[in-house]
Amino acid sequence: MRHHSKSTSPGAGNGLLGWLGLGRYDHGEDERQSREDLARQARARLLKKIGAFLLDHDLEITQANLAAAHGAFAGLNPGLERRIRRRLERGESISQSWLDRATAAEEPLPDDAVDQLAQQLEAGIDQFSRSTRTARDATSDYGNALAEHVDALDAAPGTNDVIASLADYARAMLERSRKAEEELRMAEEEAASLRRNLDRARRDAEVDFLTGLPNRRAFEALLEQEYREAQAAVEPLCVAFCDIDLFKQVNDTHGHDAGDRVICVVADLLRAISGEKCHIARHGGEEFVLLMRGCGPKDAVALLDAERETLASRKLVNRRTKEPFGLITFSGGVADVFAYPDPRAALAAADEALYEAKQSGRNRIMLAKPGA
Ligand code: GH3
Ligand code: MG
Ligand code: MG
Repeated sequence: MRHHSKSTSPGAGNGLLGWLGLGRYDHGEDERQSREDLARQARARLLKKIGAFLLDHDLEITQANLAAAHGAFAGLNPGLERRIRRRLERGESISQSWLDRATAAEEPLPDDAVDQLAQQLEAGIDQFSRSTRTARDATSDYGNALAEHVDALDAAPGTNDVIASLADYARAMLERSRKAEEELRMAEEEAASLRRNLDRARRDAEVDFLTGLPNRRAFEALLEQEYREAQAAVEPLCVAFCDIDLFKQVNDTHGHDAGDRVICVVADLLRAISGEKCHIARHGGEEFVLLMRGCGPKDAVALLDAERETLASRKLVNRRTKEPFGLITFSGGVADVFAYPDPRAALAAADEALYEAKQSGRNRIMLAKPGA
């Protein structure tokens, strides 16, 4: 399925796609027109892929199946795409129940829902601390006024029993008001600590626990921002996927903890090239994603290739058992973002180039073909 032809056949403008206005490409038209045509061709290919996938596997044309196939093939759900690809590589068919399970397992993180919850919590905390502060100020004013009266009563000449018991009563009220004030102060502190926890949770939600790198969620936001800025500044922008080679063997031979340490070594190596315009994130598992602004595709490949070579020349040792890990390498796929209709398509192309790097023997960086 990955090995579809990327060239446009001369007859692509005919038939159903032609009728839909998809798939034509006229070299004589101006640049804008050809960009639109490229986007149209990409849509036509996507439509074909989705259709072929559903028909080949005898899957019903339902809304859920269309959404799943679109997510997988348009690059919106690379995890699902990978699951499908791996299954097909193993020569296994795709049944409805398998697709349902795989789709559920790769349910994308509902970013909006998390943000909305955090916003609600934040508004709640703000309101709570505002009302406790108001209540505390009122209690404090009341306490001060009461204290003045008690002093005046004590100082009054010829205090009789009624006045004295009134003073006692006022003293008890004063004590209660001070207690209430203290309780409100504690509630206020609690609200401040809740706010600090929320800020920390927000930061944690964007950081990968194992490597300390930004996670996939943070990367999505960075990609949107850098895309806008690079577009406005007419600067090149590249994305890349890097995936540790045969990492399952590392886990199988040395154990999961040692595998984690290897992931951290690769994360640190890649972190070294990160900077203001170069972002590295852990995309998941033993896979990293890079965003390089101000860097053309050739430079991006060279930059990543240098890191690949550095890692391949290292002799890593399992510090717990002193056993060498053997050769640890990674493969990479790079895509020039502006050679595609949108950043999602560029990510999918980089993923495809990574796949080709794996297919051609691993431990190499491949550049995606433009407009793929
Ligand atoms: P390839 O060269 O094709 O990428 O082969 P691979 O073995 O690296 O790829 P595969 O996807 O078959 O295996 C990846 C393994 O990574 C499987 C999974 O158990 C492991 N893995 C995923 N996340 C983590 C993690 O956080 N820590 C550790 N130690 N292993 C992980
Ligand atoms: Mg791997
Ligand atoms: Mg992987």
